[in-house]
Amino acid sequence: MIVDKTQIGDEDPVEYAFEQIVMRFDKFLMRRYRNNKKDKGLLVLDKSTRETRLQSLAIEFKSAGHRWGFPRNIVDVPFFVDSQATRLIQYADLVSYALWRKFEQGDSEFFEAISSSFDSDGGVVHGLHHLKGRSEACDCPACANRLL
Ligand SMILES: [Zn+2]
Repeated sequence: MIVDKTQIGDEDPVEYAFEQIVMRFDKFLMRRYRNNKKDKGLLVLDKSTRETRLQSLAIEFKSAGHRWGFPRNIVDVPFFVDSQATRLIQYADLVSYALWRKFEQGDSEFFEAISSSFDSDGGVVHGLHHLKGRSEACDCPACANRLL
């Protein structure tokens, strides 16, 4: 998830990104369901000061929906864990670091190692979202999809 804060107006970038993640993860699970992999999902997030707000946002999405609909395959509110206690969060941190290196520092080395691992279906990348100005050029897989 790469979000240029200038592109979302007054919206909170963490909440914007969280909504995107919830929607994209749910759609990922939906596509698996259609392929007879009837799994449900659970969000595991790093403990943060945003825990209470993200918990209530998740509940709001379940009851009132998010801007694209209702999540149907995420079974509970997000779990917040100490990143030192689980490798899941440490893996996510590595992905975040690779994205930060590419999009903030212009170094693609780590991103190139993971760029083919983002969720995709039929050549469309769903697991990477890059929100930027329309006139900005970008070669990432998410932006390449938009040009098709
Ligand atoms: Zn891009």
